[in-house]
Amino acid sequence: MAKKKRKWAMALVGIARLASQSELLEAKSRVQYFEIPSRTILNRTKPNMPFEWTINPYRGCEFGCKYCYARYTHEFMELAAEEFEEKIYAKPAAAHLLRGELARIPRKDSIAIGTATDPYQPAERRFSRTRAILEVFARERGRRLGITTKSDLVVRDLDLLCEIARANILSINVTITTLDEKLARLLEPRAPRPELRLGAVRRLSEAGLTVGVFPNPVMPLITDREPHLDRLAKAARDAGAQYFGGGPLFLRPCAQKIFLPFLEQHFPKLAPHYRAQFEKSAYLGREYKDQLRARIEKIRDRYGLTAGPTDYRPELWQDEEQLTLFPLHNEAVSRQRSAVSQS
Ligand code: SF4
Repeated sequence: MAKKKRKWAMALVGIARLASQSELLEAKSRVQYFEIPSRTILNRTKPNMPFEWTINPYRGCEFGCKYCYARYTHEFMELAAEEFEEKIYAKPAAAHLLRGELARIPRKDSIAIGTATDPYQPAERRFSRTRAILEVFARERGRRLGITTKSDLVVRDLDLLCEIARANILSINVTITTLDEKLARLLEPRAPRPELRLGAVRRLSEAGLTVGVFPNPVMPLITDREPHLDRLAKAARDAGAQYFGGGPLFLRPCAQKIFLPFLEQHFPKLAPHYRAQFEKSAYLGREYKDQLRARIEKIRDRYGLTAGPTDYRPELWQDEEQLTLFPLHNEAVSRQRSAVSQS
């Protein structure tokens, strides 16, 4: 049996081979944790993305959201879409690797943590890979960093987040698709309750950090009604969020495999409409997107929320030049003093 398994692993290539050879870190009854070797930490994004680099400290995500678009990352490892929430691969905490990679990229580049996994999923309590990454950023200056999560565990790192924000541009996006607890439990079975996420928004905001709420993905006839989004935006504003994003659902084939059967079970009337729509394309049509954008803009205006983090802080971008302000300032002060003493 072991021989057969070894033979199978040899037939795989690239990331699939690394996954098959990853060391088992721990196993709960439903979830197994592995460590996957990783040569790089920063991944370059395609052009036209709102950020240039991503960091995903894990592969897979235990929260198991039914609409999750990131399941394709497990398909690269020749694993089934369902295994995305059952086999979690932690990347090694390679601070030296990250420091080396950061030295090669411009400070103006934006870096997003948590684009294909949740950096504060349960694995983070055990392995602290996200925290190790933040420790590196706490020693940086002038970086532009965004973190996206559904977990209140993010407040564990308040100390580091505040340290990062002192010298870098940091924004934290908390995803809350609904305030309805039952609906959230169905859609995001193992993610923290919406109320806990709002509590995290409040703590982050009270600590002076830039925080916003994303209701993404907004799902037609499930979470896209105006009263639903309005309630969410109001709660976000009351908790101290500064911005409120909002993007529609998209379903790649690997996400359809989970989401469409889920709809058939829990929303049977909607299932045929979704199936017809997403069989044509992974994306919703222009008309729907425009209507949703207009609805969200109206709601934002109602609560004084912006569309994204306000990050114009050029004083942080050129740290070397800023340092010279002090001697210059001192010189100017001494010139003034000597002028006063001579008068
Ligand atoms: S939290 Fe994000 S990465 Fe995790 S399952 Fe949900 S959508 Fe996917």
